[in-house]
Amino acid sequence: MLHQQIDQNLSDTKAWALRRQLGIPNNKRLWVLACMDERLPVEKALGISEGDAHIFRNAGGLVTDDAIRSAMLTTQFFGTKEIIVVNHTECGMMTASGDFLTEVLKNSGIDVDLVNVDPGLPELKLPKGVFSKWIKTFTDVDEICVKQVELLRNSPLIPQDVVINGYIWEVETKSLRRPYERLSEKVNTAEAMDTKTIKLTESTESLI
Ligand SMILES: [Zn+2]
Repeated sequence: MLHQQIDQNLSDTKAWALRRQLGIPNNKRLWVLACMDERLPVEKALGISEGDAHIFRNAGGLVTDDAIRSAMLTTQFFGTKEIIVVNHTECGMMTASGDFLTEVLKNSGIDVDLVNVDPGLPELKLPKGVFSKWIKTFTDVDEICVKQVELLRNSPLIPQDVVINGYIWEVETKSLRRPYERLSEKVNTAEAMDTKTIKLTESTESLI
């Protein structure tokens, strides 16, 4: 009967529109922390679709106070059971140090020790001299990915049963890998492939 299909559609629409009020989690009960870089297509990289995850993006895909705030809300109150961190190669956060960027801002007339880092919460103050650390530049994408997972794992605001993993998106191959597992380093030379050889002995030498 057509009315059954119509009623089902109406029911689906209602469940979608009222998800938070009805306590319905996202499809995969997933929270993603990813860099804002335009070369990182989060849904495509993870093989997920609309409605599957809460996605938080910032410069670097790093654990900041607002990332923790969002992770806390989704895991404590919105039914999320899994967290995936996605950092990426050639990240802009590796192109300069925090001190360098701070100097550039100072030279343009900004007082980095007095500025409100959260204009909506002026009570949130950075101690003097911490601004460059607050920018959170980094020097190694594999290291930083592992570190973000650790930081989330150790946060008392995220339940212990939440499963947390981190991956690297390679902008050069447009594929995902685990930290420190670079397939591209294992395909170009026999040495990298750990090719099997026979060690020459006296008997084989005499045959030559
Ligand atoms: Zn980035």
